[in-house]
Amino acid sequence: MPHPAVVRAGVEIVPLCDAVGPMGHQIARPLDELFGGPDHPVWQRHDRTAPWTLHFHSYLLRTPGGRTVLVDTCLGGEDSPAASWAPVPGRLAAELAAAGTRPEEVDTVVLTHLHSDHASGSLAADGTTPAFPNARYLVQQREVDWLRATGSPMLAAVVDPLTAGGCLDAVPGPLRLTPELALLPTPGHTPGHQSLAVGERQLVVAGDVVLHPVQLTDPAAGYLYDEDQPAATATRTRLLAELAEADGLLATAHFADPFSRVR
Ligand SMILES: [Zn+2]
Repeated sequence: MPHPAVVRAGVEIVPLCDAVGPMGHQIARPLDELFGGPDHPVWQRHDRTAPWTLHFHSYLLRTPGGRTVLVDTCLGGEDSPAASWAPVPGRLAAELAAAGTRPEEVDTVVLTHLHSDHASGSLAADGTTPAFPNARYLVQQREVDWLRATGSPMLAAVVDPLTAGGCLDAVPGPLRLTPELALLPTPGHTPGHQSLAVGERQLVVAGDVVLHPVQLTDPAAGYLYDEDQPAATATRTRLLAELAEADGLLATAHFADPFSRVR
């Protein structure tokens, strides 16, 4: 059963589930090592032995003005850079079709960040043609700079072909896309991580700012694989406070339920 869409600020937000599965052995760790560390007080309130089954969500947004925006392209095919640790292939194309949208109709692809489980479905199976041929792909300039500094395989797999195709826009900071939608830099998980805000925080599609529900209990329960843990905690704390203030919904990449109320 697909998850139902929601409407906020006149924008329809449709969750698409690319895949579901555990994290592969290479980087799998006990939950309390991944979030906050075994001594963190959050583990007095949550079951540290529960398995972590990741969902891999993308979000389709349709605005009143007729824009069609996709946030994240998830895992991609069998040969995805994520294949070493995540369940591939993703089923985004089928999910998009089930939502009644053709790839040609997507005019904007927002990549929250350039980890392999968020951007690997950006190209068609040939590895060179954009999977969304009429879309501008938006990523923060800081994210691209970080990838170049670290020599990530995502450069050859995603950034370079999108750049060669002339469809990648490296954005230097916040950006208003439509009257209802705005890109917000949300650094920490990666240096150039960004989120997509709907309305005045009525809903935020927040990629990996919040990875596991224990971080709703305590946003200071940092994630082992955040690039900059203090920055990630500051971003998470601020975003959750803004959503609570606005009674907004948090749309995450990896929760089982795509939308979370924040209190
Ligand atoms: Zn992720």
